[in-house]
Formats: sequence, C-alpha cells, structure tokens
Amino acid sequence: MTTRRESDHSTTLAADVLAGKRAAVARAITLVESKRADHRAQAQELLRELLPHTGKSMRIGISGVPGVGKSTFIDQLGTNLTASGHRVAVLAVDPSSSRTGGSILGDKTRMQRLAVDENAFVRPSPSAGTLGGVAKATRETMLVMEAAGYDVVLVETVGVGQSEYVVSGMVDTFLFLTLARTGDSLQGMKRGILELADVIAVNKADEHHEDEASRAARELSGALRLLRGEDEHWQAPVVTCSGLHDINLDNVWKHVRRHRAWLDAHGGLERKRREQLVEWTRAMVRDRLLARLDVPGVRATVKHAEAAVLSGKLTPDEAATCILDALG
Ligand code: GDP
Repeated sequence: MTTRRESDHSTTLAADVLAGKRAAVARAITLVESKRADHRAQAQELLRELLPHTGKSMRIGISGVPGVGKSTFIDQLGTNLTASGHRVAVLAVDPSSSRTGGSILGDKTRMQRLAVDENAFVRPSPSAGTLGGVAKATRETMLVMEAAGYDVVLVETVGVGQSEYVVSGMVDTFLFLTLARTGDSLQGMKRGILELADVIAVNKADEHHEDEASRAARELSGALRLLRGEDEHWQAPVVTCSGLHDINLDNVWKHVRRHRAWLDAHGGLERKRREQLVEWTRAMVRDRLLARLDVPGVRATVKHAEAAVLSGKLTPDEAATCILDALG
C-alpha cells in the first residue's frame, strides 16, 4: 500500500519525468532499481502513471563479444542519431556486474560524446543481483526513458550466458556486432545468437580490413540462409561497418529501420510486444518463486529434499512436492 503522501510524490515525479527533466529521470530510475519494499511500491505507482506514455520508441538490442567495438559503435551511432533530431537512451544488461560489483556496460566513460550529449541518456547496468533482477530494472528503466521522450532506446549486452535472450525479449530489433578477424566468424558466434539476430554488422571494416569484412559478411549471410531457410519472412541482413570511423553506420541504421517497418507492416510489432508482456510477467513469477526458496526456513527444506533425492529416499517428483509445500 502506498500512502497519500507517497502517491502525491509519485505524481510530481511522473510529471517531471514526462517533462523530460533529467534529474527526475535519474531519480525515477534509482527508484525502479531499488530493492526496498517502500521504493518498490512507489516505483510501481510511478510506472502505472507513466505507462500510457510509453511504447513509442524504437527498442534496439545490441550485442557482441567484449572488444567487438560496442561502446565505440553506440557512441557514434547515438551521436549521429541525436544530430538528426532523435533522443537516445542507452541502457545495459550486464549480469557480470553483480559479481564484480562494478558495471562494465553502459559505463559513461565508454561513451564520451553521448555521456555529455543533452539529447542522450547513458545508464550503466544496474549492479543489483540476478540476471532476472537486472532485466526487470532495465525493462522498467526503458519505460521511464520512453515516458521522458527518448525515441530510441539502445539496450547493450555482452554475449555472456543468457543475457542475449533476456535482451531479445525486451526489444523490437536485435543487432549483433561481430568481427571478420576472429578466425572463423561463424565459430565466434553461438548458433543461438544467429537465430536471435535481426541485423548483423561485421564491425571494424576499416584500415585495410574492408575486403576481409565483406568476405565474412557474405559467408555469414550464406550460413544464415542455410540455418533459417529461404522462406523465412525476415532475412537478417549482414552488412559491414566501422564504428570508429563512422563508415556505413547509416546503412546499419537503415536496416534497423527496415526491420521495424517490416514488423509494423505485419502487425508484428504489436504481437511481439504483447508476447513480451506475458513473458515478462511469467519471468517475474519464476524469479519471485525462486527467491522464496532462498529464505532460511525454506533453504533447509530444499537441501534436505535434494539430499533425499541423491540418496534415493525420495523421487525428484516427491522432493519437488516437498519443497513447494514448504513455500506454503
Ligand atoms: P566493446 O568492448 O565491445 O565495447 O569495444 P570498444 O568499443 O571498447 O572497442 C574495443 C577496441 O576496439 C578499442 O580499442 C577501440 O578503439 C577499437 N575499435 C572499436 N571500434 C572500432 C572500429 O570500428 N574499427 C577499429 N579499427 N577499431 C575499433
């Protein structure tokens, strides 16, 4: 329950976010990232007020291994976009930050021009907890940014574990950056990533590496056709670019827009976002149930039940029942 005062507070904050005030946006994000129970309630109230003003941005995921040039690319692309009148938010999903305590992705020092661009907002990955927790905070931050009038939201992630799947579940278009020079570029990419990508860019196509990059792009393009089949509705284009030298970024952007237009034309955007809403809800239920297993009383039961399975005293089915019973 929120009190009257908290409710007034969130209305003021919502108005300031809608007016695009940076300090309010920062405060709102801090609120949605907070784990305190009272903050959570305030955050949800705020989001409910902002919700009617969300959903109008282009939500774009950007992924690639460390060193592929993500921050350089985003800094340049973002700068080009603000120069042409867009307002750009950069968010990050970096599950490693919860282990290292610091976040690498979305770090302002990595995007020096965007960090001081008044039409851009760069937010590091929340360093709070599990991938599920980081994802929730990022999704909610995205809504805050949309309500504040940012019309392009770039969500950056590294190709670690499940983070790409999580990000692809919150964006409209997934852009994958890769390199021609990491040996076989196909091997450098997990098969699953190829299936997620809507646009692929072979980066660092500069400084005499253009031919190599074009060759890699052709190979990847062929591999994709084999993997996905010719009759797939959207053929992910594979292009080359250089974030560092601002080469062909307009072409990459053109394909991102083309993908968005293709989604729009088929009613796919609405369908995709509706499916994502349901999936977010389910993910949140899963996360919360798992969190409830991690409280002292229940933890003992879990350990007990697992030991009983290992010693053959309980079947996995019985153990699961035993654990769920402990949740009440
Ligand atoms: P990230 O780890 O994916 O964010 O990669 P960075 O953007 O930090 O770039 C890693 C290194 O590659 C840095 O030394 C960059 O200067 C360099 N780099 C980034 N983009 C390009 C590019 O388009 N061409 C070339 N030649 N180097 C680049």
